[in-house]
Amino acid sequence: MRNSVFFYKVPNYQQELVDARIEEFFTQSKAAKSLSSSTKVVLKPNLLAKHAPDKAVTTHPSVVCAVIRALKKRGVEQITVADSPGGLYTPAIMKSIGQVSGLAEVCRQEGALFYTDCEFAETQADGKLMHRFNLLKPVLEADFIIDLPKMKTHVMTNVTAGVKNLFGTIPGLQKAELHMRFPEKEYFGEMLCDLCLTVHPQMTILDAVAAMEGDGPAGGTVRHVGLLLASENVWNLDLAVCHLVGVQASKVPYLQAAIKRGVCAEEFSTALCEGDKDACHKIEGYRLPSGYVEMDFSNRFPFFLRWASPAIVKFATPRPKVDSKKCIGCGKCAEICPKQTIRISDHKAKIIPANCIHCFCCHEMCPVKAIDVVRPLGALFNL
Ligand code: SF4
Ligand code: SF4
Repeated sequence: MRNSVFFYKVPNYQQELVDARIEEFFTQSKAAKSLSSSTKVVLKPNLLAKHAPDKAVTTHPSVVCAVIRALKKRGVEQITVADSPGGLYTPAIMKSIGQVSGLAEVCRQEGALFYTDCEFAETQADGKLMHRFNLLKPVLEADFIIDLPKMKTHVMTNVTAGVKNLFGTIPGLQKAELHMRFPEKEYFGEMLCDLCLTVHPQMTILDAVAAMEGDGPAGGTVRHVGLLLASENVWNLDLAVCHLVGVQASKVPYLQAAIKRGVCAEEFSTALCEGDKDACHKIEGYRLPSGYVEMDFSNRFPFFLRWASPAIVKFATPRPKVDSKKCIGCGKCAEICPKQTIRISDHKAKIIPANCIHCFCCHEMCPVKAIDVVRPLGALFNL
């Protein structure tokens, strides 16, 4: 059970359908047997920014509602829904995100707390790179953490599911500081691996009823998948997501780090699939981020150009580009940019490319999808 990944076909967000499948998972789960009236439970949804549920950026309220109901059925009385978005983390911003995402209303109706106090504290970490993290207070005080990610593609990490969702346990712009500290994907992946081993969720339940494909996690398009995935092993759940969308686990920086450390397998084993096993297959035509490249870059070059491949690869690296026709000059990208390399002039954003570390936080946070992901030489070499 601990390593199994349950696949549940859920054609839409009708509450009774979602409730039934979440209840099925809780009935199977060994971890759920430890729940009681005194257990403090934290639900960690994906609340990246202020988006309505139909945009497929945030975890759908019916999934959060179903989990709260399953917990209450087991006598749990202290249920907190907590997350920190991509930009500033203030009570006013959390109230506004709670309202637009529909999660504040679900919490009100079901008797859970939607956390808006925005307090955090330091905790020790026995990581490879990190020896301490600042985490949201409810996460530190919880006895039982349920990770509730949305299935999305991601321009920096290729996919985002259970492990990457935990980045939101770090308050506000401290996430940007970590991007700044670990600009290389490899080290950023190691940091996320440390974070996941520190937070250590007891359960992960992934919302893939309406998922995101393309240039996610906010700028992609909605893709109906019609699935919920659930596991007590967050690494296996993320491997299952790679299996579904057709991404090699080694191309996801935090999974690559986990594979190297031996805490995660190299690929999903379908023997671990439970529930609706016929849904455990690659989804045809799932659109990956523009920058996703399956093969080693150097294999793509004609032999007479291989000597120049490092320089070409550097130039072909995906980068953010402002579409000034769409830009409304709101400044959200400049606020989040860890390198402070975005200026707003004449109500338009301008990126100074020399300082850019290609973290794509600006792309994630732009409310009008005005930041594209471009590859200057990528198309020429089919990278
Ligand atoms: S690019 Fe997007 S986030 Fe940046 S100022 Fe323009 S509209 Fe705002
Ligand atoms: S410009 Fe965008 S991608 Fe570049 S460092 Fe700033 S936030 Fe990251």
